[in-house]
Amino acid sequence: MKKELVNELSSVIKGGRVAAEEPMSAHTTFQTGGAVEVFAEPADMDELKKTLGLLKSKGEHFYLIGNGSNLLVSDKGLRGVAIHLAKGFGDICIEGNTLICGASATLSQIARAALAHSLTGFEFAAGIPGSLGGAIVMNAGAYDGEMKQVVKSVTLMNYEGETVKKSAEEMRFSYRHSLLKEEQLIVLEAEIVLQKGDAEKIKEKMDDLAARRREKQPLEYPSAGSTFKRPKGYFAAKLIQDAGLRGFCVGDAQVSEKHCGFVVNKGSASSADIYALIKEVQKRVKASAGVDIETEVICLGEFD
Ligand SMILES: Cc1cc2nc3c(=O)[nH]c(=O)nc-3n(C[C@H](O)[C@H](O)[C@H](O)COP(=O)(O)OP(=O)(O)OC[C@H]3O[C@@H](n4cnc5c(N)ncnc54)[C@H](O)[C@@H]3O)c2cc1C
Repeated sequence: MKKELVNELSSVIKGGRVAAEEPMSAHTTFQTGGAVEVFAEPADMDELKKTLGLLKSKGEHFYLIGNGSNLLVSDKGLRGVAIHLAKGFGDICIEGNTLICGASATLSQIARAALAHSLTGFEFAAGIPGSLGGAIVMNAGAYDGEMKQVVKSVTLMNYEGETVKKSAEEMRFSYRHSLLKEEQLIVLEAEIVLQKGDAEKIKEKMDDLAARRREKQPLEYPSAGSTFKRPKGYFAAKLIQDAGLRGFCVGDAQVSEKHCGFVVNKGSASSADIYALIKEVQKRVKASAGVDIETEVICLGEFD
C-alpha cells in the first residue's frame, strides 16, 4: 500500500479526495475492475498542478479518469494513481451562443444548460454518459453529431503543469480520435459554440434521441456503449450479428441480444470475462467476414 504517497497527496489535495485501494468498479460503467493503488481527486487547477508536480518528482505513473463510460479496467487493478477531476472542474458559463464548460461537466448537464438558453447543436450528446473531458478525448458522437462540430477551443494542461489553449483544428479531431490520443495532455475546459434555436424544438429532439436510445440500446445493463469502432465500409454490430454472435456469452459478459455492438455485464461479469468475450468476437468476425474490428473501449491495466 502506498501510504506515504497517500499522505503526501493529501497534503496537496485539500478540497478534493485522496484514497488508497479505491475499487475501479465504482468508477466504470461496466461496474468491473480491481482497485487502483491511489485515487486522487484534485479540486481545482492549483491542486491539479501540485499533484502533477508531486507525481513527477516521485516518478509515479497516473491515469486520467472521466466518468469511466468508455473504460475496461483489469481485475488485477491499476498500479499508480487514478486522477479524477472533482466537481470544481465542472462549471458551465454561458455568454451568448458560447458555453465555457469544465472538463468534469457531464454532457447531459451541458445539454440541459444549452436547452435552458435555447441553444441548439448539442442535442446529439445529451444521452452520451461521459464527462466533457472524456468526450473531447474520444471526439464522442452520435446521430450525425460529434464534438468536433461544436468545440471551438480547448484549454489543456501538460504533465509539467503548464496550460495551453488549442483551436479545434489543432485538436486533430477525427472519428473517435483527438490530439489527446497522440500527446500527454489533460482537458481542463472547452469553448463550445452553438446556435440560437427554439427551446421546444430542442427539447423535442432530445426526447426523440433519448427514446431512440432506449429502444435500440441495452441501457438496462452495465456497459461501455459501443464496444467496437465502426470499421470502414461496415457496421460492427452487423458483422457481429452475421457471425452468429448475438447473445454470445463468456461468464456473465454477453454480446447484447438487443444491440450486437454492445457488450453488457449481465450481473457478475469480471473484466477478464469482458476482455475474453471481446477477443473471441474479434477472432470470429475476422474468420467469418475477414474484417478486423478494433475496440472503441479503452483497456487499462494488465489483461494478457
Ligand atoms: C450506455 C452508453 C452509451 C454510450 N453512447 C455513446 C455514443 O453515443 N457516442 C459515443 O461517442 N460514446 C458513447 N459512449 C461511450 C462514452 O460515453 C464516451 O466515449 C465518453 O466520451 C467517455 O467519457 P468519460 O468521461 O466517461 O471518459 P472515460 O471513459 O473516463 O475516459 C475515456 C478516455 O478519456 C481520458 N480522459 C477522461 N477525462 C480526461 C481529461 N479531463 N483529460 C484527459 N484525458 C481524459 C481517459 O484517460 C480515457 O483515455 C456510451 C457509453 C455508454 C455506457
